[in-house]
Amino acid sequence: MHLSQIKPEDPKEKMAEALGKFLSSPPKGVTAEVIEAFGRTIQTDDGILPPRVFIEAVEQSSVAISITNTKARILYANQAFESLTGYAAEEVVGKNQSILSYKVTPISVYEELWGCLLQQKSWNGVLINKRKDGERYLANLTVAPVIGTDGATSYYLALHRDVTEVHELERQVRNQKVLIESVVDAAPVVMALLDNNGKVLLDNHDYKKLLGDMRGVEPADVFLDSLSEVIAFDRKLPCKERRGFINQEISFKNRQGIATRWFNCSGVWVNEKNITADDYFTDAEECCLLLVANDITQQKRQQNQIKTNALRALMAEQQLVHGMRETLSGAIYQLQAPLNMAAAVVGMMQRRQGNGHESNPFQSALLDVIRSGEQVLESLQQSLPPEDQEAVSPVNMNEVIKDVIDLSIHRLLEKSVLMDWDPEAELPNISGRFYALRTLFKQLLDNAVDAIDEPGCTRREIAIQTRHVDDAVEVEIRDTGPGIAGNKRHQVFEPFFTDWQHIKGRPGMGLTIAMDMVQKHHGSIDIDPHYHPGCSIKITLPVNPPQTINQDEYA
Ligand code: FAD
Repeated sequence: MHLSQIKPEDPKEKMAEALGKFLSSPPKGVTAEVIEAFGRTIQTDDGILPPRVFIEAVEQSSVAISITNTKARILYANQAFESLTGYAAEEVVGKNQSILSYKVTPISVYEELWGCLLQQKSWNGVLINKRKDGERYLANLTVAPVIGTDGATSYYLALHRDVTEVHELERQVRNQKVLIESVVDAAPVVMALLDNNGKVLLDNHDYKKLLGDMRGVEPADVFLDSLSEVIAFDRKLPCKERRGFINQEISFKNRQGIATRWFNCSGVWVNEKNITADDYFTDAEECCLLLVANDITQQKRQQNQIKTNALRALMAEQQLVHGMRETLSGAIYQLQAPLNMAAAVVGMMQRRQGNGHESNPFQSALLDVIRSGEQVLESLQQSLPPEDQEAVSPVNMNEVIKDVIDLSIHRLLEKSVLMDWDPEAELPNISGRFYALRTLFKQLLDNAVDAIDEPGCTRREIAIQTRHVDDAVEVEIRDTGPGIAGNKRHQVFEPFFTDWQHIKGRPGMGLTIAMDMVQKHHGSIDIDPHYHPGCSIKITLPVNPPQTINQDEYA
């Protein structure tokens, strides 16, 4: 037998052969649409999909499907349509789709719908429908034209779902969001919800205001940086193991490392379930930090003001005691010299006279002078006020200078002095006595202001600069006063030396005390001989003074 004579036995092949025959010579009376529909039957590896499969797909669909003529008169409705609308198919066939209209959908919506359909375009939108029992529901409707072989629209396909619940949920979420945002906005604190990478997901009015104040620098970054110094942020920890924090005080620092704003921060970790499709079957979640920060800058400033005032009073007292101590020490020193000389004269006289000779009246008088001088010295020694013992600790010279400027601010303003404060951004701490150093620089700044007050000074400017040079910190104080003449550069450090033109009655111990403190810190104090016009004093303090230093040296 020849191969071409073999009749196909496979049912799939049989069906394809029958379809081919039907399409090539359709029986009389079969409409063109039916022939076209069979012609578009889908051919698969498993053979042709019969039209009943498509009908079944439409019947079983969970979406309400209806087919209408071009006037929206219903020709077919599936089971989902029946369950959604409450109408049996037989009840609606022949009726207009408007049977579902609740009559409150704006006319413009229908005009848009029909406008699209007349242009043979699909339309999608939401309408308010009513079921057979009168209950309203929101219908998300898609209408598509079915275009015939002649190019004209022959039917419309309508697919609609009840989206009432989704809409209600959306509205609830939106309402809650508006409510939460209003509450959060009204709260007089900075609030931000940050994701695991510190990105701001939600913020309030005060946070936005802070962002404006910081000219584009993200406050969240500054908060997290400061907080990470105070509390540990381990972003690798599972969400459940993270702990919140409460009332942590942090400060925002400027370029010079000086605090300009203070906040009291609390944080709560909020676990959010991931909403991506990938995580539908997992319990994956992300930790977000709800950060609440209370601006306490005002209170801090007030506290600092109180502290500065107390400090000013304390320093005035300390300076007075220190001055008295140094003045008395100077007087003792100066008294000691003539007494020593008198003792030497008496000694010399005794040696000349030899043993066994009576002392002459001049010698006795000298001895009386020496005795009463020694009594005076002793009572002066006893009246020396005791000096405070201050422990050596790490000292930031920028903080010392800032304190000194704060303490002198009223005087600087009163004297109309222009202050240029130029601190090194990153200054190492030196090992020293904070209060003693503050007294030292207060003295130098007071001198600079006094110098500017001297007759003939036209410019009223003081500049203070800190620098980190090798293993030392340098502080330079420059003023526009009359300066210190070359021959007096060493004299000014001697006790009781004073050369002010306009101030009288000063003990002249300021620079002596300053020199003493600098030496106790193993530093140096230099007056720049070339600086003109004015005076430039540079204090160099080693970061790590020699190991031999003991506390007594500082006393
Ligand atoms: P109508 O007078 O019927 O229509 C209001 C406006 O629609 C008219 O002013 C006119 O601008 C336009 N319009 C109406 N019929 C035509 C037309 N044949 N040609 C051009 N413009 C026309 N409506 C619903 O409320 N709910 C539904 O679920 C819904 N499903 C639909 C499904 C399909 C497939 C189609 C084609 C329409 C559907 N409609 C549906 C629209 C519906 O047919 C009505 O137009 C609508 O309900 C308003 O009815 P009405 O009696 O209030 O006013």
